[in-house]
Amino acid sequence: MKISPKVWKNGEFIDWNDARVHVMAHVVNYGSSVFEGIRCYETSRGSAVFRLSEHMQRLINSAKIYRMDTPFTRDDFCDATVELIRQSGLEHCYIRPVILRGLDENKPSFGVNPFPAPIDSYIATWQWGKYLGDEAIEAGIDVCVSSWSRITSNALPTMAKAGANYMNSQLIKMEAILGGFAEGIALDDRGYVSEGSGENIFLVNNGRLVTPPLGASILPGITRDSVIQIAREMGIEIVETQIQRSALYLADEVFLTGTAAEITPIRSVDRITVGSGKRGEMTAAIQTEFFKIIDAERPAPSEAPWLTFIDAQSEKKTAVA
Ligand code: PMP
Repeated sequence: MKISPKVWKNGEFIDWNDARVHVMAHVVNYGSSVFEGIRCYETSRGSAVFRLSEHMQRLINSAKIYRMDTPFTRDDFCDATVELIRQSGLEHCYIRPVILRGLDENKPSFGVNPFPAPIDSYIATWQWGKYLGDEAIEAGIDVCVSSWSRITSNALPTMAKAGANYMNSQLIKMEAILGGFAEGIALDDRGYVSEGSGENIFLVNNGRLVTPPLGASILPGITRDSVIQIAREMGIEIVETQIQRSALYLADEVFLTGTAAEITPIRSVDRITVGSGKRGEMTAAIQTEFFKIIDAERPAPSEAPWLTFIDAQSEKKTAVA
């Protein structure tokens, strides 16, 4: 795997190996971090980051929820990302910004109270392929409904992409893997479908697209939003509503969305075949538009472009993407 030699830290570029935290840093002991997962694609018109501004806005929102004051704005994080990718020489990569509570070695504090801990901001990047595998995008994956509930948003706010939330995701993912599934779907604390360990979920029912609302303890996914906008443009009706577990078995099509998973069809849930057991027609149609957009072959279905080009030459052409 190719890794960027540099990491951005608090406004400076440092060596990858120097981007370390102390074992007694607040984040290590109490999970106090917020982060993002962003992708830079090698498009037909050069490398471009997908929905950079929206991801950085979610990072800022996550930090706000946890009262993590950072001197950097959304635009600072966007500019730093473009510069980091430029310096890394990577053509397509995964970008990981993290804001965390560290340790002031001159004035250490080891308690739960987060306020004395300094806030550090980082951005790292590395080359990364498809999360659930190239084959998964076409053939689909087998998933289970998790015995673990999705964290309830009044305990750990799911509007924030916080490191601590991923302890819940890890329980869901480990159970799924050990059971021979690619992914686990968690139900919310009321028993309605919430999301995967790192993906939002959509069902297709009689030509309509159905997905859990933000109130179902989901992360407001940027791929989820992209799919909703693409579907709307295609004239597909979208319903955000509570979904029972059994509706997953009876749906015509089910798919997952996420920065890493992109749009991944689900071919079975709890070993019950979904629809035809293959990627469905609507899933394929939405995938086609999504992949055209991330390959800069067509504009986004919104006024604001979805691609930020790394190379200034290509950047001039951003308006059409
Ligand atoms: N839910 C969870 C729990 C996630 O970790 C992710 C990945 N960030 C998603 C949904 C999908 O969000 P996005 O499309 O913004 O990557």
